[in-house]
Amino acid sequence: KMQGVSGREEKILVLVRLRPLSEKEIASSEVADWECINDTTILYRNTLREGSTFPSAYTFDRVFRGDCSTRQVYEEGAREIALSVVSGINSSIFAYGQTSSGKTYTMNGITEYTVAEMFDYIHRHEERAFVVKFSAIEIYNEAVRDLLSTDNTPLRLLDDPDRGTIVEKLTEEPLRDWNHLKELLSICEAQRQIGETLLNEKSSRSHQIIRLGIESSAREFLGKDNSTTLAASVSFIDLAGSERASQALSAGARLKEGCHINRSLLTLGTVIRKLSKGRQGHINYRDSKLTRILQPSLGGNARTAIICTLSPARSHVEQTRNTLLFACCAK
Ligand code: ADP
Ligand code: MG
Repeated sequence: KMQGVSGREEKILVLVRLRPLSEKEIASSEVADWECINDTTILYRNTLREGSTFPSAYTFDRVFRGDCSTRQVYEEGAREIALSVVSGINSSIFAYGQTSSGKTYTMNGITEYTVAEMFDYIHRHEERAFVVKFSAIEIYNEAVRDLLSTDNTPLRLLDDPDRGTIVEKLTEEPLRDWNHLKELLSICEAQRQIGETLLNEKSSRSHQIIRLGIESSAREFLGKDNSTTLAASVSFIDLAGSERASQALSAGARLKEGCHINRSLLTLGTVIRKLSKGRQGHINYRDSKLTRILQPSLGGNARTAIICTLSPARSHVEQTRNTLLFACCAK
């Protein structure tokens, strides 16, 4: 049974990461219109659009410039929240942004740094016995699939009286070390790509959740008293491209004609907006698969960070602005 550590109510940590222009963008004379002017403020400065109505400066807990490394984003933004799992606190780290803004690049790095440090911690705390379990799912079109299984059948969600919503028959692989993580991540990557050949653009429309569950107990009490057992999980969520949410919202009348609404992404937006105002009261977790699965990682004492990834390119300004508006609602 989960035993959380009671903690204070806290806000969602909102981080923004600007990626550099890619070589391809530079080659096609793309211009960068966004600049981080300090550690907390990002500025839009397109002189052609001077006098436009939208605000030009946005402030967050932390913004990372295009030349910041993923290690820096991890250390200064994600580490504390991700590693709280070893003390029995659930947490979740999201990457939110349009396709090609750097979500996967950021999330993969952060997952690897977290696992490396987690095993360091485990080796330094021999007085406790730890078990780490890895699982990975993809949510596409409200269907949940196990990325460690070659069986492509969608998995059902069940309501467990003790554990809340669980994914039925999900593979949970005991994780040995960092190299094992790399192996599992490449299996997941391959599983995701299988679907991609059948359905173009699938990765921009699907969410991926990597979850690390950690249980530990003091060795001196092993087999005697389970009150010292700590259990928690950290989830790394590589979201569908955020253009899927804004397309759905702006499509209006055309929605009926088959524009695909990403229900999980929209519901997440509503849930995050409510959480940012405090973790009490009714929150509509049950409206989508993503939020149902993540409920224990979002509500209660859970700690949450959202990394909003941005392209600096002039041609992406509308999506960049949408991402920043989402980020503002979350803080
Ligand atoms: P997304 O998952 O949001 O669609 P990706 O993570 O796949 O975007 O990034 C798109 C491309 O940009 C990839 O080739 C990736 O290596 C590169 N990229 C993303 N972020 C950065 C960054 N901060 N620095 C350098 N290259 C990056
Ligand atoms: Mg991606």
